[in-house]
Amino acid sequence: MPRCDEETLARRGALSISRCAHCDTISLHVGGVSLRLEPEVLHHLWELIGVALSAPSVRRAALSFDRPRAEAS
Ligand SMILES: [Zn+2]
Repeated sequence: MPRCDEETLARRGALSISRCAHCDTISLHVGGVSLRLEPEVLHHLWELIGVALSAPSVRRAALSFDRPRAEAS
């Protein structure tokens, strides 16, 4: 079995996503941890993250994160 030949698809800070040209798996790298996934599993993960991010408590947290903090007076 040939070794994986990964091409980086996207990178931001400590996060990156790569694809193997031999076996078509997608690797999700988060710092020192890597998850090697079949492409369809990545799509399920993407959907699941979307569901989690649409939860009201997460939306409220995101809104307060985007909003500039009020200056202390
Ligand atoms: Zn591979």
